[in-house]
Amino acid sequence: MEKNYPLKIGLEIHGYLNTKEKLFCRCETDFLKKTPNIFICPICTGQPGSKPMLPNEEAIKKIIQISLILNCRINYEGEMKWQRKHYDWPDLPKGYQDTISGAHSTPCAENGVFDGIRIRECHLEEDPAQWNPENGEINYNRSGIPLIEIVTEPDFKSVEQTLSWLSNLINTLSYIKVIRKNAGIKVDVNVSTYGERIEIKNINSLEKIKKALEYEIKRQIEEYENGREIKKETLTYDDIKGKTIKMREKEGQTDYRFIPDPDLPSLDISKEDIEKIKKSLPELPSEKLKKLIDKFSLRKEDAEILVKNLALVEFAEEIAKKINLPKYISWITIELLRILNYNKKTLDDEDVEIKPEHLVELLELVDKGELTVLNAKQIMNNFVPKSFSVKENMKIQLGKLSEEETKKLVEKVIKENKKVFVEFKEGKKESLNFLIGQVMNLSGRRADFKKVREIFEKNR
Ligand SMILES: [Zn+2]
Repeated sequence: MEKNYPLKIGLEIHGYLNTKEKLFCRCETDFLKKTPNIFICPICTGQPGSKPMLPNEEAIKKIIQISLILNCRINYEGEMKWQRKHYDWPDLPKGYQDTISGAHSTPCAENGVFDGIRIRECHLEEDPAQWNPENGEINYNRSGIPLIEIVTEPDFKSVEQTLSWLSNLINTLSYIKVIRKNAGIKVDVNVSTYGERIEIKNINSLEKIKKALEYEIKRQIEEYENGREIKKETLTYDDIKGKTIKMREKEGQTDYRFIPDPDLPSLDISKEDIEKIKKSLPELPSEKLKKLIDKFSLRKEDAEILVKNLALVEFAEEIAKKINLPKYISWITIELLRILNYNKKTLDDEDVEIKPEHLVELLELVDKGELTVLNAKQIMNNFVPKSFSVKENMKIQLGKLSEEETKKLVEKVIKENKKVFVEFKEGKKESLNFLIGQVMNLSGRRADFKKVREIFEKNR
């Protein structure tokens, strides 16, 4: 495709705010759990006569955090009224969605800019339920979860720019934990070339956005070259057919009959609230990256690994207070991440507690020659989920393991590697070696190799 054509792209991004409870009730929000309709109540299933509770304060705090990151003006003096946005669809039992947008409301925040792209507005709304048109089933777990909608100006000039900006936005917002990691996004994309603006609704991944945009741009140029007019319309992207298709009239309609919701008071946010939230914001990934390179003299490659996760950067910053960070950086970017990945954990998981001072202690022992690098790595294997003082542990652990202790470790390894253990029982030699290796690692090499083999053979 030749590159010389006019192109404007704009986005409307819906992200799931990372809150424990839904927007107008106290139901849980973990909608990624498979069982349908377990987090429901009369409010989020729209039972007749049910009234919303006051909006979730955590959601309001998070929308302000996002608005600040996007450098928006927050409308604390404006009328942030909840509006009922009406449409009839099986996923919406109340017949309307509550949103701070529409004809009679001012959005939460306006006129921002993030990474060179202007932000028109941000607002807060509730998610509808999930409806499966194939079998008519409805799952209300998602109904009433707080959503943020971020609307950009049509400032993007290429597909690549759109994708890299969007991925930076998602990384930044999940890094400070304001949007839900792994929950995905829903994006409406508008694109114009030689004619009017075309909107493609509800695309849920970067890859699909790329495909939809490439298809749609090509289609519009062909229409233009064939002398046909490009008229304003609303499309969806069919991933299986690999093309954009026209939406049914009903879905594309825009008359939502907005009216103020009499059951909900206007949002009342003060300038002081905003200042307080501003102070509590962590440094953003871009600022952290600069600091790690300039202040701590890290290489860019290493700094980039750290800034993918707030907990990891903060861990590294703590380490840097005590020892030379660049010298030991691979213990974090390679060793620690290897161990976490192996255990399918991340540093910010609730059950993981790894203390920087424990790693510092370990590294100091390596530095003094009291531990070999290999031994230190083996000890570190046991830092997940909870780290420990290596010095204290070394005092206890001098000498070989008792038979009783060894047996316990063997049992633990069998429990955690049931499949491999079955393979071993079926006679696979590599499986036994693997299992023995696990016990040796767990014991910090203090188990007696022969004894371990013996215990496994007995268990066969
Ligand atoms: Zn509920």
